[in-house]
Amino acid sequence: MSRIFSGIQPSGELHLGNYLGAVKNWVRLQHQHPTIVCIVDYHAITVQYDPEQLRVRRRDMALSLLAAGIDPNIATLFVQSTVPEHTELAWIFNTVAPLGELERQTQFKEKSQRQESVSAGLLTYPVLQAADILLYRADLVPVGEDQVQHLELSRVIARRWNAHFAAGEEFFPEPQALLTPARRIMGLDGQAKMSKSLGNTIGLLEPSDQIWEKLRPAVTDPKRVKRTDPGTPEVCNIYHLHKAFSPPETVEHVAEQCRTAGWGCLDCKHVLHGTMLEELVPIQARAKELNAKLSLINDALATGTARCAMVARETMREVRDKMGIT
Ligand code: SF4
Repeated sequence: MSRIFSGIQPSGELHLGNYLGAVKNWVRLQHQHPTIVCIVDYHAITVQYDPEQLRVRRRDMALSLLAAGIDPNIATLFVQSTVPEHTELAWIFNTVAPLGELERQTQFKEKSQRQESVSAGLLTYPVLQAADILLYRADLVPVGEDQVQHLELSRVIARRWNAHFAAGEEFFPEPQALLTPARRIMGLDGQAKMSKSLGNTIGLLEPSDQIWEKLRPAVTDPKRVKRTDPGTPEVCNIYHLHKAFSPPETVEHVAEQCRTAGWGCLDCKHVLHGTMLEELVPIQARAKELNAKLSLINDALATGTARCAMVARETMREVRDKMGIT
């Protein structure tokens, strides 16, 4: 059966963007495939960061993932740096990764423009991603459109390594993209993807009144200036959030009320607030339990590390053997 690998940066508490855009899908997939979910702290250090904050954010991310439904009895959840074979394999892959393709990665170009000084780690970020995936010989990787290019590079690396050291046999499978069904979740400003650095997010664990304070002024269809102006739901981020949280009959009703100016945008947001809470309240209750008993998080991560370390050690034993490294 296909094995799934997913990575997420330790950015602290999940927000609706990464919950709807990725994690909710992983929660579903864990019941269909052997699934590994990795908190990729070595990726997080490719840009400037605060070590103390990294510790806190790593724990908060683990808590959020477990609260959101990643079940450590079904899936494997662990922190990347607790399995050192990730960086060992990344170094090996650096020797077969084509420099030109690394330099052409869109994410490298975008991120490097925002940095005062660009590290080699930022350039080789997708090589570490290839190591993350291939260490477990995962063959499916749930990704959004923006990650497809990195995954293509993982395939190139697998192919090149196999050609050099496995006599062309498929020792490392070429991982395939499992495109995430949810569309890109826009931020409350309606301008850019929901992202902590842009301050346009709603946190998964935010209390109801704070969520409302953020939803109330959120950008809607800019052409609905007056309450009586009919709107176009398809251009409104609130409508897309309805599609993620509200039942189909409510979504249909929202569209109709919007087009006929039957509802004002505040009416529409009130309904969304309600359906959102129906999904978030149980997640927040689980988060509270985990917060009160942090050993549950530590135990889940330790079990995940132990499972991954066993597979990683065996992969690296074979890799070293094939490469003539003792
Ligand atoms: S009524 Fe709802 S869908 Fe229509 S513009 Fe307002 S918030 Fe958006």
